[in-house]
Amino acid sequence: MKSNQITVEISDNRKEKPAFSSLQFGKTFTDHMFVMDYTEDQGWHHPRIVPYQPITLDPAATIFHYGQTVFEGLKAYLSENEEVFLFRPEENIKRLNRSCERLCIPQVDEEIALEALQKLVDIDREWIPNVEGMALYIRPFIISTEPNLDVTPSKSYTFMIILSPVGAFYKEGINPVKIAVEQEYVRAVRGGTGNAKTAGNYAGAMLAQKQSGKSGYSQVLWLDGKENKYIEEVGSMNVFFKINGEVVTPELSGSILEGITRKSVIELLKHWNVPVSERKISIDDIYDAYKNGQLEEAFGTGTAAVISPIGELFWKSEKLIINDGKTGELAKKIYDALTGIQTGKVEDPFGWRVTVQ
Ligand SMILES: *Cc1c(COP(=O)(O)O)cnc(C)c1O
Repeated sequence: MKSNQITVEISDNRKEKPAFSSLQFGKTFTDHMFVMDYTEDQGWHHPRIVPYQPITLDPAATIFHYGQTVFEGLKAYLSENEEVFLFRPEENIKRLNRSCERLCIPQVDEEIALEALQKLVDIDREWIPNVEGMALYIRPFIISTEPNLDVTPSKSYTFMIILSPVGAFYKEGINPVKIAVEQEYVRAVRGGTGNAKTAGNYAGAMLAQKQSGKSGYSQVLWLDGKENKYIEEVGSMNVFFKINGEVVTPELSGSILEGITRKSVIELLKHWNVPVSERKISIDDIYDAYKNGQLEEAFGTGTAAVISPIGELFWKSEKLIINDGKTGELAKKIYDALTGIQTGKVEDPFGWRVTVQ
């Protein structure tokens, strides 16, 4: 498909922009959205940017019953010179298509998806907060729309992209969070859908999160679904530990979501010649390292917070306090480097930044 096939209908009813300083994550949306349809006859067709609006679906649409859906999450950043940057957006589109494959959803054309992203962000660029630490969150997603209660892949789909201005994840810069190691529930199992960004994974994770919240923890540390021993992720972020000078993150197991922040952190550490390895790591390894005084730092990685330091791990009625409950030096250095690249404050030797023209 060629670029000129994305049609644009500009809203003649622009919303008033909120006070960016008081934004809550994911509650405010911009003036426009991208939509594209899929049918068996026509494939993906009719790409369009239209005013942001509710959609109508048949109550029997398969999305409501069997959850055949995938999503993505990335951000657009405004630089000090009012340039608009995306961070490795092609990685998000590739991952969207990998998720599609797992959920039996027809893949989208990478080029048109990237162009749709850029065009939509450009049209709504005034919604990118010009405030330090804020950005425009981009949510591409695909839903299955065929009215059909039979458990079978839908014959029709809709791909949409919506935009939401979001505040700094941490109001006073990055702050460590308290994490409970989850011993009852699991997020995903090998062979399941843990490595796809699909709704069911998140619905299934909410109860553990809710229960840990009641005990004062902000997220849970997920262990593997088979032996309940190996570390997988923290909340909906990937997780890293610095043990005796080496940075370790769980290797991709099939049940771990392959984060683009994770990948970037690994590449950054290699670039800095900091030892980093992807391998299986058990909660016992972490406990032993802690007892030996070698657990130097722990942090989560993901688009929303970029880096989220872990100040405390609750495991079998013991509180493991990491780095005195403070943000580690390395976590801070990675945070500054990544956000610097994302917002155009520092050089981008990797070519990760994409300018929205
Ligand atoms: C999206 C997501 C991540 C982080 O991925 P990024 O590309 O770094 O934002 C990690 N784990 C889960 C479960 C996720 O859904």
